Formats: sequence, C-alpha cells, structure tokens
Amino acid sequence: MPIFEYRCEACGELLEVLVRGAAAEPALCAACGGKLTRLLSLPADLKRMDGFFHKDNFSDSEIASKGLTKYVNRGDGTYEKAAGTGPSILDRNKLPG
Ligand SMILES: [Zn+2]
Repeated sequence: MPIFEYRCEACGELLEVLVRGAAAEPALCAACGGKLTRLLSLPADLKRMDGFFHKDNFSDSEIASKGLTKYVNRGDGTYEKAAGTGPSILDRNKLPG
C-alpha cells in the first residue's frame, strides 16, 4: 500500500496517509479546507504499520468509526494518534520489526 505525506498550503498542517485499496488520495485539508500538496514518501518501514488513513471530509470520529487510525506528524520523527485505535505515539526509530 502506498503511503504519502501531505502539507496543507493554507495552514501548514502535515498529515500522512496510508492509501488502502482503491481509496482516493485526500484533496483538501481536514482542518481548514485548504489545498494539500504531496510531499516525500515516508520511510519504507512505516509501511508495515497497519491501518492509518486520512481523507478529506472525514472527521477524526468518522475515521475511528470505520476502524481506521489517523496519525499526525509531530515533526520530531514521531507520530501522534489523532483518531482510532493503536499506540498513542509512533516513533520512526522504534517501529517493530
Ligand atoms: Zn489546512
């Protein structure tokens, strides 16, 4: 599954998306509705982590209700869970495997 990182051009929010199956890429920032620009791919080992997903017009509670998990890049190599189930914090350098 491809994983992409996006930045909102309007408010600067960063988000990572693990695109599951045929799910569309996000087009708009969930926080402000601004345009998202795709950034560099995340490290390959993050692809092993299961189940994070973000899409425009999906609130955090909707993401959680679909059994998915959203993580937000904290800018220091760690990712904080914003919705769903799973570890509260992911650390790029401490992933299993
Ligand atoms: Zn935004």
